[in-house]
Amino acid sequence: MPELPEVETIRRALRDGGRDGPPLVGRRVQAAHLLWERTLAVPSPAEFQRRITGQMIQDVGRRGKFLLFGLSPDILLIHLRMSGDLLVEPYDAPLAAHHRLVLDLDGDLRLAFNDPRKFGRAWLVSDPKDILEGLGPEPLSPELTSQAFYERLHSHRRQLKPLLLDQTFLAGLGNIYADEALHQAGLHPLDNASQLDQTQAARLLTSIRQVLEDGIQRQGASIDWVYRGGDFQNYFHVYQRTGEACNNCGTPIQRIVVGQRGTHFCPACQSLTTNS
Ligand SMILES: [Zn+2]
Repeated sequence: MPELPEVETIRRALRDGGRDGPPLVGRRVQAAHLLWERTLAVPSPAEFQRRITGQMIQDVGRRGKFLLFGLSPDILLIHLRMSGDLLVEPYDAPLAAHHRLVLDLDGDLRLAFNDPRKFGRAWLVSDPKDILEGLGPEPLSPELTSQAFYERLHSHRRQLKPLLLDQTFLAGLGNIYADEALHQAGLHPLDNASQLDQTQAARLLTSIRQVLEDGIQRQGASIDWVYRGGDFQNYFHVYQRTGEACNNCGTPIQRIVVGQRGTHFCPACQSLTTNS
């Protein structure tokens, strides 16, 4: 499942060019083809086609794991969920089997939302507030201070791993980067958020930012899904390394299930320090 670094990599490639083709900014939507109705959350298919045609892509942004195409005047939001990907193609290329939504653009290009498992969603709205309002802060935003992060942790009497995956607590983390951040911070996935001290909380925020920035630097991780191109999977310290030696101390990495998610950690570097 794409997490913040993978979505950010796609955002930059679509905005600035690279990966499949030239930048999308400045291109106008000539036509829209909805090939799987449920991919579109709002509005109705007929209204979508009428409204988006003729709008120009002015920016490609991101909030958490959502991509935000700033059109004029609407916003197109796309969430890739489990298996979604966005491809820039020649407008007359054969339609791949799992294309769900295709936007024909000027310059003989098209933007295709490909999604084999069909969990991805698109929204065309005039204001994205209602869709994004429950999201927690952006982990890389300087507006999130270590004091504010400490206070957020203390307002939740929850285990760290499920809390980090909760998009209302912090936007953008998934299973890979949560496991990697906890290892780098030396915190057990079952530690209780409300019992961390200021030093532990600051270390956790620094580690979250470090693994996300490393992931972006490596153009994301190509694992478990159709994402193409990144190689951060070659730099994992714990994720899917069960039984392999911890890079810090040599202890075998363990896997436990927390909130139905496989969770990887080093039992020596990440000992439980709170009452979970
Ligand atoms: Zn270790």
